[in-house]
This record gives sequence, structure tokens and C-alpha cells, in this order.
Amino acid sequence: MAQQLEMLGTRPPAARPWPDVCAGVVLGAAIGDAMGHPTEFLESVAAIRAKYGGQGVTKFELYWERDGKHFAPYTDDTQMAEAVLRALLEARGESLDTTMRLMAKKFVAWANEPQGGHRAPGNACLAGCRALEAGAPWDQAGGATAGGCGSVMRAYPFGLVFARDVKKAEEWAVAHSRLTHRDPIALAASAAMAVGVALLARGEPVAQASSEMVAAACRYSASTAAMMATAIDEARRGVEPEVTLERLRAWAAHEAIAAGVYLLERHPDDARAAILEGANTSGDSDSIATLAGALVGARVGARGLPADWVRDVERSEELFALAMEI
Ligand SMILES: [Mg+2]
Repeated sequence: MAQQLEMLGTRPPAARPWPDVCAGVVLGAAIGDAMGHPTEFLESVAAIRAKYGGQGVTKFELYWERDGKHFAPYTDDTQMAEAVLRALLEARGESLDTTMRLMAKKFVAWANEPQGGHRAPGNACLAGCRALEAGAPWDQAGGATAGGCGSVMRAYPFGLVFARDVKKAEEWAVAHSRLTHRDPIALAASAAMAVGVALLARGEPVAQASSEMVAAACRYSASTAAMMATAIDEARRGVEPEVTLERLRAWAAHEAIAAGVYLLERHPDDARAAILEGANTSGDSDSIATLAGALVGARVGARGLPADWVRDVERSEELFALAMEI
């Protein structure tokens, strides 16, 4: 496995083998999350530059040691996305209701004892988990006005597991948002993320994926779709992140998905650039970089991710193995 991982960044891009695409999304998201980990709570780009130099973060700046391993830790985004992906794989072939009940159990377990320890979990995610633990139905557990980025940040697995059925990817991603986030902007963002990952993973052009993402969002929230359309237009016109990502702080779901699609449009084939621009933001840096890493990762695959980042991100071997099960 370690040898397989070492090879990832060095092989030339070839056709799009499905395992490489899946690993590209899963590892791209985790890498983005870890890259934005040290900057999530630095509240301005100036503060990031003061701490990490004129370019801001250009590599993993936060490393932990645990069990003899030296790694760049991800945050709650990846912990929850892993729970989502494991639930989808374990319940493969089961109904939506059965799958969401299993996912609810995994979410409650995450809230009580997250793998690797607590990583600044979002309040809405924790509140949803408490409601689930108290017996709330999965589709009622999330706050009715919970519209943070806590569900869109973990929605990419739907696009991989249901890549051949984009409608199902969208509908199930929306359903899963209700466990913790029921505001229409969170449903819209989750829909768009699942659709975008599915289409990009299948090799569809970026422009098509972007427009289908906007259309998916619009089925739940017109304001989310409008925010995404503006961000796409800005990316195509070359509006800099200092403008667009200063406005889209991404603590809210509609801003997060707009930031994600903006970075996809700016750097569709450059995971390094997309992830670093996401991490060097004044807002919710780890979640923006997670979305960017998943979307661009679906295009470039794991072989298109920087090899040293793949090597160093927390639990890369476990995440790689999990991606191979999709
Ligand atoms: Mg986080």
C-alpha cells in the first residue's frame, strides 16, 4: 500500500481508471482539509501571511505525531465525510431509510468519540447528532434553519457512490443533509456538490459540471444558485480570490459551494493551486479547500495530486483503501 501511495504523484496522467478517480476525490478532500486546518480560524489573509509568509500557506504547516507517525491532520470535515462514505458502502443496495439510519448511528458515534479526537466540530452538526441520539427521525434531526457548511463539506461521497445515477446522488445527498442541516441553502449546496463530483468523476467537461451544479442547487434554493453563478462568472473573468473569496467566507453553505465551484473553474486541472487558494482565505479555509480538493481531485485523480501531500496527510493509507472499495 505504501508503495502504491508513493507512486501516485509520479505516474503520468493516463486514461481515467475509476480507482484513481475515487482516490483523487477522497484524498483531494482530505488534503484540502488538512491544508486549511491551521488557517481556519485566522480571520484575514493578512493574518495568514503574517504567520506563514508572503504567499501564505504553501505546504502543510501543521504536523502531529501519533503512534510513531508524523502526519498533517485533517479536521471534522474529513471525519464526517468518512462516516458518510462508510455508511454508503456498508449499506450498499439498501433503501434510503436504512442507509440514513446507519449514517445517523455513525454520526452519533462521531459526535461522542470521533476517530482521532475532536477537531473543532460545528455546532449544527453536534446539535443534529444530539437530536438523533435522543431519537429524532433522521429527516427531522437537523435544525430547520441550520445552513452552515457542515453538510456540504461531507457530501462528495454521494457523487462517487452514485456516479452512474446523478439524480440519486443529488436526492440522497439532500436527504443526508437533513440529519444535521435542513435549511434550503444547505440542501442546495449538498445537491450541487454531489452532482458536481459525479459528473467530474465520469469525465464530463468542467463547464457542464458547473452548470449542472447550479441547476441542482436551484431546485432547492434560488439564492444559492445565484451565488454560484456569480462566482463562476467571476472565475471566468479572472476576478481574483482576494475579491471573490473575501466575500464568500463559506461559514454558510451557499457561500461554501460558491467558493468551491469558483476554485474548480479557476484551476480545473491544478489541485495544488485550487487547494492552496482555498486554504489561504479569511473564512472557513479547511472547508473551502476540502470542496476544492474533492472537485479538482475528481478530474486529476490521485495521480494528479502532489505526491508529498498524499504521503503526509493523516491516515492516507486508510483513506486510499476506503476509496478502493467504492
Ligand atoms: Mg473543519
